[in-house]
Amino acid sequence: MSTPVLLVATRNPGKMREYRELLAGWPGSLISLDDAGVAAEVEETGDTFLANAHLKASEYARLSGCLTVSDDSGLEVHALGGAPGVYSARYGGDAYASDGDRVELLLNNLEGVPWERRLARFRCFTAIAGPGGQVLSTFVGSIAGMVQYEPNGEHGFGYDPVFYLPSYGKTIAQLPLEDKNRISHRADAARKALLALKKLTA
Ligand code: IMP
Repeated sequence: MSTPVLLVATRNPGKMREYRELLAGWPGSLISLDDAGVAAEVEETGDTFLANAHLKASEYARLSGCLTVSDDSGLEVHALGGAPGVYSARYGGDAYASDGDRVELLLNNLEGVPWERRLARFRCFTAIAGPGGQVLSTFVGSIAGMVQYEPNGEHGFGYDPVFYLPSYGKTIAQLPLEDKNRISHRADAARKALLALKKLTA
């Protein structure tokens, strides 16, 4: 039997490296969008993580002709009704151009919110699509924490410096990347996707 190829729908080398570890149990090869020669960009126009994960898996599978896995993720803050959610990467629009700007906006929007109401979670939705573009399955992974009052730590990216994990007594940005990658929302969703992928090709 030929080696099954799985397209991981990303161009981000950091994310690809993370997926190579998370999907190490995949019996075939893993390729990125650049490896697959897919130049087109699928816009994340959905208003949920699930819709965006579907859209990307389906379109990139169709464009590449490969079995494809995609994801969409972000931060949901309970006291803000789930914001920034699907808009995590663009929170506040063009005026908030960096991760630091968006963290500051988040902290401003949570001003006066007491500790016990600062519950938050990162969620990641993963979709698998067959080579024709049909979505075969979807998974969700999450990690719960609290939004700290001040940023702390240098690792990770995005909202990691203010995402406090009570069980570690630290923000995610204070954890070594290997530890984050074991417990993250992406790891949780990817593990579930891997089980399904193995069944598909068994
Ligand atoms: P993506 O779907 O993985 O591209 O993530 C969208 C946005 O959600 C990112 O630009 C970040 O703002 C936020 N985000 C997703 N995952 C993480 C994480 O692990 N740490 C911090 N921020 C994250």
